[in-house]
Amino acid sequence: MPLICLAALFVSCLQWSCGDKDGVETKASASGAAANTSSLTLVATTGMVADVVEQVVGNHARVITLIPAGADPHLWTPTRTDIMQLLEADALFMNGLGLEGRAGEAFSRVSNAGRPVCAVTAHLPDGDLLRDPSNPNHPNPHVWMDPGLWGATALAVAEIASQLDPAHAEEFQKNAVQYATEAKKVRDDAAAMLESVPSANRVLISSHDAFGYFGKRFGFEVRGIQGISTESEASVSDIERLVAEICERSIPTVFIETTVSDRTIRALVDGCAARGHSLKIGDALFSDSMGARGTPAGTWPGMIRHNASSVANGLRGGA
Ligand SMILES: [Zn+2]
Repeated sequence: MPLICLAALFVSCLQWSCGDKDGVETKASASGAAANTSSLTLVATTGMVADVVEQVVGNHARVITLIPAGADPHLWTPTRTDIMQLLEADALFMNGLGLEGRAGEAFSRVSNAGRPVCAVTAHLPDGDLLRDPSNPNHPNPHVWMDPGLWGATALAVAEIASQLDPAHAEEFQKNAVQYATEAKKVRDDAAAMLESVPSANRVLISSHDAFGYFGKRFGFEVRGIQGISTESEASVSDIERLVAEICERSIPTVFIETTVSDRTIRALVDGCAARGHSLKIGDALFSDSMGARGTPAGTWPGMIRHNASSVANGLRGGA
């Protein structure tokens, strides 16, 4: 098995972490666990990463998701049991770009023990990554919000899977191309849903800066009250500044996120009410976690379509 080749890739991934395993939620492959024809076990950190890995490997590997639906990956830390389980897996796929920021040390331990770890975002063109000018060394990690970028991660997954299971390399590559094609359809569907939002209302305000790529792709200004990680806190002056802007521009709706406390969003609503502006809260958006498995937003395409629909419904009608 050409693990030497893998090692080179993993080195490029280790900038963020490496790592390991789980046990929180064992998921069947997209094709069903009973159909697995391989003894390969792959672990993925987020549901979005698991989605792309499952679609690429089909029934040739079992895929385990580390971070449960609804949990915040910025704050997630693998347990000792998680790490032990990862050590028994064949590879770990992570988002990278600092998303799993508290797992870096644990992932490094697993990598040092010889387990391959790869960030699916590792080969995205640097110029496509969003960076806050005040914090240029930390790209925004929420790349799954741009279907074009996320579709490209399938090719990286296929590359790794092909090295672990060369007999099915051709199938993995074909599945990756299909995933990228489906991602373009997701992009087009979302764009069609969002077309109805007038330009004056194209401001997407949510709990943290998870929608930068969504905004860039679909033409929305984005304001995350917290920064690119939920570990940062919004200040009172941040809230007041945003309240003033919302009132001045008559922005009709803001959005809570399923993985983040709605405290700051409700502070916006209260602040606007005090100024006589009735600010609505739209449908909850799936930002850093998909919906529960088996629900419409329980896949990556479903998550994006849900978000597009919710944003369109919340911002479509004028102030
Ligand atoms: Zn986030």
